[in-house]
Amino acid sequence: MITVEFVTRSHVGMMRARNEDVVGVDARHGWAVLADGMGGYRGGEIAARIAVETIQRGLTRSFLPGWSVQEASQALTHAVESANTEIYRAGQQNADLSLMGSTVVVVAVLEEGTAVCVHVGDSRAYRLREGVLQQLTRDHTVLQEQVDAGLLSAEEARVSNARGMLTRGLGVASLVDVDLGVIEMNPDDLLLLCSDGLTDMLPDSAIRDQLVVGKALDEIADALVAEANQRGGRDNVSVVLARLVV
Ligand code: CA
Repeated sequence: MITVEFVTRSHVGMMRARNEDVVGVDARHGWAVLADGMGGYRGGEIAARIAVETIQRGLTRSFLPGWSVQEASQALTHAVESANTEIYRAGQQNADLSLMGSTVVVVAVLEEGTAVCVHVGDSRAYRLREGVLQQLTRDHTVLQEQVDAGLLSAEEARVSNARGMLTRGLGVASLVDVDLGVIEMNPDDLLLLCSDGLTDMLPDSAIRDQLVVGKALDEIADALVAEANQRGGRDNVSVVLARLVV
């Protein structure tokens, strides 16, 4: 039986009136969900909440003790597709919410220490292993496409005004493409999920500096949020930290 320790933080930041990020974890089953909503009125908040609630419900329904990578991958993908449908429908039913949408990143840690990760949008997953911070997700943004095409460096993209222009989001269309990744997790690894309110304010090197393996996850999470806010806190900032407990 594998045990996962999760710690979450979600902070409104220094500039925004509302927090449109939503996080949810289920430590007993070993998964975490982070969503970053967008849209006028209260749309962003509503979309992110629908995303997290629909995904948690879907995963709870399909969870199997000792589920395989394939079973978990299907469950995560289906749960995210259902969240897309729910947000899209809610938007169609209310003109004030018609432009709402959300990013999402979901990770489920399986018995053998394998983790399945799915995402849509620019919320990210990272793994720290032996001092190296590896980004596990690829942003679905216009800027990432420009980086891939060699037109921009990653650091130029990080500070560009076009940040946040998504090429994929939940609830924007009736169907969504979900990216899936499978990684190994060792007891010394740290896993981080975060919204762009963290990565817009901190370069990867500053995130890595805060991820100290022996340190309490609560302290790391507080330090990440505090540093994003010290650097301006332009957006809501949310983090989920996870590690195996052996
Ligand atoms: Ca955001």
